[in-house]
Amino acid sequence: MSGIQKVFKFGGASVKDAAAVRNLADIVSERVGDNIMLVVSAMGKTTNMLEKVLAAYRAGGRRPEGAPLRAVMEYHDGIMSVLFPDRSHPVYAAVAGLFDELRSHLEEDEPDYDRHYDRTVCYGELISTAIVSAYLSARGIHSEWLDARRLVVTDRCYRAALVDWEETARRIRPLNARFEPGKVFVVQGFIGGTADGLDSTTLGREGSDYTAAIFANCLDAEEVTIWKDVSGLLNADPKRFSETVKIPRISYSEAIELAFYGATIIHPKTIKPLQNKGIRLKVQSFLDPSSDPTVIDGSEDARSLSRDAAVPSYIVKDHQTLVSISPRDYSFMNEHNLQIIFATCDELHIHANMMQTSALMLSICFDYDEAKLKGLLSRLSDRFSVKYNLGLQLFTVRHYLQEGPTPTEEAFLERKRIIVRQSSRSTLQYVLEPVLL
Ligand code: ASP
Ligand code: MG
Repeated sequence: MSGIQKVFKFGGASVKDAAAVRNLADIVSERVGDNIMLVVSAMGKTTNMLEKVLAAYRAGGRRPEGAPLRAVMEYHDGIMSVLFPDRSHPVYAAVAGLFDELRSHLEEDEPDYDRHYDRTVCYGELISTAIVSAYLSARGIHSEWLDARRLVVTDRCYRAALVDWEETARRIRPLNARFEPGKVFVVQGFIGGTADGLDSTTLGREGSDYTAAIFANCLDAEEVTIWKDVSGLLNADPKRFSETVKIPRISYSEAIELAFYGATIIHPKTIKPLQNKGIRLKVQSFLDPSSDPTVIDGSEDARSLSRDAAVPSYIVKDHQTLVSISPRDYSFMNEHNLQIIFATCDELHIHANMMQTSALMLSICFDYDEAKLKGLLSRLSDRFSVKYNLGLQLFTVRHYLQEGPTPTEEAFLERKRIIVRQSSRSTLQYVLEPVLL
């Protein structure tokens, strides 16, 4: 066994404070013998904070109101002061240097919001990994910090950058030869850069899982573990549903289905690079690291379990818009009309979470985005009448029971108006409007 075998992904919650970083180091130090590398997100809610910082700078120029950056600096300093009681530790200078760079990028007069976003928000991950890598070293683990902006090569589609797989693989692959037993590379999730090294990019919110899959694919690793604050992949979000069960093992395709409908535990783009190379994915609890993970792979076992032993999964997506489109001339909603509408959606990057057609109407449900909705209205309204509803929920029950709604389903539907209900053999979907009491 040579080279890197396992990629561990640690999300924001797993590095949200000093105790969490210590726990990460415990997990890592017990597993360094497995030839691992780490992909780490920004600490806690840093990405959200940086989005606000950016907004403040763009509104207020060099002197934003309320010193928003200070809160981010103090948050990280609080974590460092516990992990590195000696203030002369070099991590302080390294992190101060990153904050200086961040400030100068914030002050730039960049007309393109998305470009400015990627250039600044990426510092959440750069700072977090600098701290984690230094802490692992302080714990006696031989760690090396890597800059994902030089490794994950993307196009210039800021905030939703597409990976140039060939160039990315060319840059990442040599890490296997540079790897030696006991060494741990630490790299940022979520961020990348253009091939010329001039621009930073990001892969989309919650994109760190995808980064782990990119590294695993390019390194031909055997396994990715996503370390979470839940015990594995659950059949519903425990923040929303009181009774949940863990899914012990599922297939890649079932995991893609769940992610597609909005299960937030795995970023939807994560599975494909793993499936393509037969790399196993585990979802494991960082709070209880010795408990069994959920295993996602392409084995016959996983496929038959996903088929025959599936429990209903409940997935909710908020902030949905339902657009209903019908031809003004009363022609049918035929292939010609559908083609015009789909081409427009494609151009506007509107991704349909649910669709329904009838003779005269096509309904599309998608994540609310003001610009996309306006774009759709202005481009279609000469030919079609377009109506829309806002503030809806999409509720998906995967592997619903044919004999009727479960108590969980019934409870969720209470005080909601059903606008659309649609089912296939395996999946039932509702578009719902909350009823105000
Ligand atoms: N820090 C980024 C975010 O919060 C990426 C990630 O955590 O996956 O979206
Ligand atoms: Mg996350």
